[in-house]
Amino acid sequence: MYVEDTIAAISTPVGEGGVGIIRVSGPDSSAIARRIVRRSTDGDFESHRFYYGSVVDPATGLDIDEAMAVLMKAPRSYTREDVLEIQCHGGYLVTRRVLDAVLRCGARLAEPGEFTRRAFLNGRIDLVQAEAIIDVIRSKTDAALSLAQHQREGRLSGRIGAIQGDLRHALALVEAYIDFPEDEVDRASFAEIDSRSRGAFAAIEELLAGFDEGRVLREGVSVVIAGKPNVGKSSLLNTLLQEKRAIVTSVPGTTRDIIEEVVNVRGLPLRILDTAGVRDSEDLVEREGVRLTLERIPQADLVLVVLDGSRPLDADDRTIFEAVAGRRSIVVVNKSDLPRAFDRFPQALERAAVEISAATGAGIPELRELIFDTFIHGRAIDSREYVALSQARHRDALAAARERIAAFLANLSRGENLEILAVDLKDALHAVGEVTGETTPDDILDLIFQRFCVGK
Ligand code: GDP
Ligand code: ZN
Repeated sequence: MYVEDTIAAISTPVGEGGVGIIRVSGPDSSAIARRIVRRSTDGDFESHRFYYGSVVDPATGLDIDEAMAVLMKAPRSYTREDVLEIQCHGGYLVTRRVLDAVLRCGARLAEPGEFTRRAFLNGRIDLVQAEAIIDVIRSKTDAALSLAQHQREGRLSGRIGAIQGDLRHALALVEAYIDFPEDEVDRASFAEIDSRSRGAFAAIEELLAGFDEGRVLREGVSVVIAGKPNVGKSSLLNTLLQEKRAIVTSVPGTTRDIIEEVVNVRGLPLRILDTAGVRDSEDLVEREGVRLTLERIPQADLVLVVLDGSRPLDADDRTIFEAVAGRRSIVVVNKSDLPRAFDRFPQALERAAVEISAATGAGIPELRELIFDTFIHGRAIDSREYVALSQARHRDALAAARERIAAFLANLSRGENLEILAVDLKDALHAVGEVTGETTPDDILDLIFQRFCVGK
């Protein structure tokens, strides 16, 4: 368990804004509220009631800022501890000074994700839900957001809870026989053990089957637009980006040369990796020919191989085709507004292909559909019931559980010793517990919560 002290942080983004929120959690929240929030009324703060007043410096009693404050008494708060939230003006210095006042009253600066970690440790949410909170904050498309919200609300946890229920039930029956070894396993109990563990196995299989889809919705698909100079790569990117609603955000990459544009394809975030090349026509890619394009291909989940349909195909096109062999790719024959210079390209025949004109926009909707269908397989991602696994950590733990259950079922049908059977089931339960946080090692928890921002 953690030390039950009182933590505090600025929970709104650093910078200028209409309001800034300072959040405090822990046993001293109420005392801190009384010391630094001056109101027109005296006495204790009523829980969950907003008070208007000012924040004062605890040493001098001078006003720091006009503020609204609310105290949320445990357990009805984000962390299940007493939580104080102070809303002041959203300036860099003013929020900093309010935070300092709180810290001078004995609170400690919170670590990244520490509020959410307390919510988890106090059992208000499980680990899946805690991780989903970061995903909610970081989601860039509607589909990614609703997937994260469903996980935050506990739908994935519910599925996993059902799996745990089945495994525990089977284990309890197995253990009952270990305790009374002289009893023969009766047929009804055997059938129950068998069906519970098969049920858990099938439910895990179903979750694992949906992982690829969940992952791409959550992380996006990295796309490289490949092609020799002048086939229309920049034009295609611009056309994809110009569809106003499609633009999500433009994220500057780690190096100055790499820019990642995010295009929203029916909720699937496409992260188009773009060296300085694809954007401008006077650039490295044009000068260095196909070399840069080839270098980027290995980073891609999907390669769009752009051909110029108005010019004969040549050795450069062939080189690119060879480089994408065995990778997920779509052949995009551009410049459909001009007469076609070739009608057959043997290597292209086995692949998904679409004709477009980056200049007129013809074929772009078909290209978007094709990209979507490449990754999303008809499961109703917009449906309210949609639940998917989206984190590799969850996938790995469930895959380990699946193996243990498979071993259990094999041993069960062989009439193996019950103590051995119990070990398999316990291992499976342990693996599933890593998903929800019951058995997750502390160092993994540290890594998970470090991904949060301070103040969350
Ligand atoms: P990149 O070198 O592959 O990035 O190619 P660009 O996007 O810079 O385009 C090269 C040339 O082809 C430019 O003059 C574009 O205006 C032109 N172009 C691009 N797409 C089309 C198209 O669909 N139709 C026509 N007619 N011209 C195009
Ligand atoms: Zn270009």
